[in-house]
Amino acid sequence: MNDLHINGDRLWSSLMELAKIGATEKGGVKRLTLTDLDKQGRDLVTGWARDAGLSITIDQIGNVFMRRDGEDNTLPPVMTGSHIDTQPTGGKFDGNYGVLAGLEVVRTLNDKGIKTRAPIEVAFWTNEEGSRFVPVMMGSGVFCGAFTLDHAYAAKDVEGKTVKGELERIGYKGDQVPGQHPIGAYFEAHIEQGPVLEDADKVIGVVPAVMGLSWYDCTVTGMEAHAGPTPMHLRKDAMQVSTRIIQEVVAIANRYPPYGRGTVGMMQVFPNSRNVIPGEVKFSIDLRNVNDALLNTMHEEMLAFVEKTRQETGLGIQIERVSYYPPCPFHPDCVDAVRKATAKLGYSTMDVVSGAGHDAIYAARVAPAGMIFVPCKDGISHNEIEDAKAEHLEAGCNVLLHAMLERAGVA
Ligand SMILES: [Zn+2]
Repeated sequence: MNDLHINGDRLWSSLMELAKIGATEKGGVKRLTLTDLDKQGRDLVTGWARDAGLSITIDQIGNVFMRRDGEDNTLPPVMTGSHIDTQPTGGKFDGNYGVLAGLEVVRTLNDKGIKTRAPIEVAFWTNEEGSRFVPVMMGSGVFCGAFTLDHAYAAKDVEGKTVKGELERIGYKGDQVPGQHPIGAYFEAHIEQGPVLEDADKVIGVVPAVMGLSWYDCTVTGMEAHAGPTPMHLRKDAMQVSTRIIQEVVAIANRYPPYGRGTVGMMQVFPNSRNVIPGEVKFSIDLRNVNDALLNTMHEEMLAFVEKTRQETGLGIQIERVSYYPPCPFHPDCVDAVRKATAKLGYSTMDVVSGAGHDAIYAARVAPAGMIFVPCKDGISHNEIEDAKAEHLEAGCNVLLHAMLERAGVA
């Protein structure tokens, strides 16, 4: 069994075949969720699944589960999956890799005539990307009860089309009640979407956890005035006060290494004129950490600094938390299964905490879950130039195969 390997060429050609649907001129993919192109992608993948002898169940939010029976079908399935929708300027590998790696695991088991004790399932979840409809990770979110089916159904795109209407239109509104589908264990293989593995020259990332995040909107209110006649000590400069807060965002992140993150990525300056002292500045704050207690400490320090700055400067400062996702530690049994499979296969490896969201976060709320990362070129994702090496994708798929076999058992 230790010699069991997937077919890397077949995995690669399936990835390239699926990437033709919605292919962009720059070599990426634009296959937004619940569009005609998404339907074509879904039809292709489910067609491959039927060819591989899998039975297919679709739930009411359009999540698709492709099942290979085990020896004991009363056992909950060992599942793997990801998503096949993409960003408007997306790549070939984000999500698609996890789904097709699952399919390749099944094809390999078929080739070798291996029966597992528990069933194996390959899933793809609806609207992971959140580009056409919010919220992101919609299908897996409804599945685990993070929000309701009606909430998801009512989401509209910019043209006013709803999720429910589009699911019906493309024929992927199934019958199963979301969540009424047991999972014994869940694994997700994914490109890293960051530069850590490539930088360290490692092939497999074992993912112990996904970072939590805390998002804020901050508004500093001062007074517009002429940049020339107004002496420095008589100004109420919203920009100068904002930069103090922005420096503190970075300082807070640096106080909680190695996983503290602090980012200000969006800013609006009013009136945004070269010779006017800014009267109002609005900006976003994004704080992250892998440990919930540390993330909370970062939150408290942020609020305390804003309060101190308000008192020292006399300017109006409003800060509001607009989003919070707690860190998601993965299940030790699943993390171990990935670690063991990697060691058995002899790949170079390191632990990589995920800074991005994945369907596995929601799956982890209802089942033991774990993830496998492989490097992507320059750490770039959500971009048409997203790229990954066939040998790395193959290695990740081999790890997936052996981790799933450990959990499912061989009959
Ligand atoms: Zn993804």
